[in-house]
Amino acid sequence: MPEADAFLIVDGHFAAVGTREEVSALAGDTATYIDLQGLTVLPGFNDAHLHPLLIPPGAISLASANNVDQLVSALSSHAQAMPKSTWVLGFEYDDQAIGRHLNRRDLDRVSTARPVLAWHASGHLAAVNSLALRTAGLDKDFVDPVGGFFYRDKAGQPTGLISERPAFEVLFVNDQPSPMVSDLSGALSGLELFAERAHSLGITSVTDALVPPELALAYWLWSPEDSGLRVNLILDGDSLTTAKRLIRANDITSRAGFNAFGNAWLRARSIKIFHGHSLSGRTTRLHTAYEGRPDYFGVDPQRSQAELDALVLDIHNAGIQAAIHANGDYEIDMALNAIEKAIGRDQRDHRHRIEHGSVVNSDILQRMADLNIVYAPHSYIYEKGPMIDAYGAHRWNWMFANASSFEYGIPNAANSDFPISGLSPMLRIQSLVTRKSRGGKIYGPQQRISVEQALYAYTMGSAFASFEDKSKGSITTGKFADFIVVSQDPRQTAPELLSKIEVQQTYVAGIKRFDRYDGNGSINE
Ligand SMILES: [Zn+2]
Repeated sequence: MPEADAFLIVDGHFAAVGTREEVSALAGDTATYIDLQGLTVLPGFNDAHLHPLLIPPGAISLASANNVDQLVSALSSHAQAMPKSTWVLGFEYDDQAIGRHLNRRDLDRVSTARPVLAWHASGHLAAVNSLALRTAGLDKDFVDPVGGFFYRDKAGQPTGLISERPAFEVLFVNDQPSPMVSDLSGALSGLELFAERAHSLGITSVTDALVPPELALAYWLWSPEDSGLRVNLILDGDSLTTAKRLIRANDITSRAGFNAFGNAWLRARSIKIFHGHSLSGRTTRLHTAYEGRPDYFGVDPQRSQAELDALVLDIHNAGIQAAIHANGDYEIDMALNAIEKAIGRDQRDHRHRIEHGSVVNSDILQRMADLNIVYAPHSYIYEKGPMIDAYGAHRWNWMFANASSFEYGIPNAANSDFPISGLSPMLRIQSLVTRKSRGGKIYGPQQRISVEQALYAYTMGSAFASFEDKSKGSITTGKFADFIVVSQDPRQTAPELLSKIEVQQTYVAGIKRFDRYDGNGSINE
């Protein structure tokens, strides 16, 4: 039943799906009838890999700024609205869109009296104003912290552009405490804002792909059920013992009927392993050399094969799903080797995940299919297309292998990796269908997928990844009544215009959580 005219909701679940007559007959006289006037209904989107807590509460998105002036004026009006004692924060600035990277002089135009920071869309770079540099004592003679980098001008003065987290942390000193989410109250207000934004884009379920186990408690206190956003957590494997304890404690308490991290709203059943490096930073390890750099293969992963094997085996034997970050083909092969050994003859439905899996080959794809791996590739060519120029045109059809995943039968869990790329699922789907950058260049056309496949990956695929395909991901009798109303049928929209489709209403468990419908053509209740 690819399409239906009507459905019935009872107690937050779809109770019937079919023709108007069939559903009306079951609904009876006491039901509330809603006529959607021909608008399109889709299952709620499920983003399988993102990071809600990476955005400090009180930061604004700069993604829509098309030049430096626009960006400065957006930050300036934001500064007016924020308490005077805090950082003025923006994120998702795009150097391609505004024509260059930011410097301290740009941000001095926002304020010279308050520290200002704007994150680049990559998450790896940021720009700050002069006051932020001065407060932290960052002058000409300052020595860069290990793992971080301050860009400097010809005279050796910091330009205001900085790179990597150790450099950000230098800025967050006593007088200007860190705006990043590091405690429960910060996490709680951050999640509140995030949920509103998610609903406005049609998102009803998300997976936080890297949660320190202690912040799992923040999710619980925040209460996904009250907020109407279903959340799956992948716990940070750097805190392996605590993460395993949390999952085990849930298993024990759930036998007594208290299932804090394994219910319809909040789950924590997986552990993240960082193995390998960054695609955008050009540090991911490849089997063959980088384009134009015959001696450079990327940076060796942080573990030996034997160390990775032991870690994956430990997680697998604890009955837990492993989610392994691996980008380059060399890193992915190591991850698959470890999973293959850990599984051995165990027939368990493990659903171990490869996060990103950016550069593949036919051997890797076949192994992923044989080992029943869940694949969570990037969907960010729209924003980041030019970044993969460094990987060479011969690789583009082997990067973010979405079409191959459908051919090989590898479950595909669509995701934004927000804030690495924009949160809007319709923009992500446009990028998956067109593989066209903002600038209009197509990267790896063989990996384009159809609108139906992209919708499937953003609903059923991501539900499968968190073991929830029986309860969500489609409008099916018995599943959660999580659905959205959109302004236009995506299957009848030009691929380049998919991101213009507006979410009109978002329902989670049958409850309306977002409504921008203006009544034109009227949705009658
Ligand atoms: Zn991520």
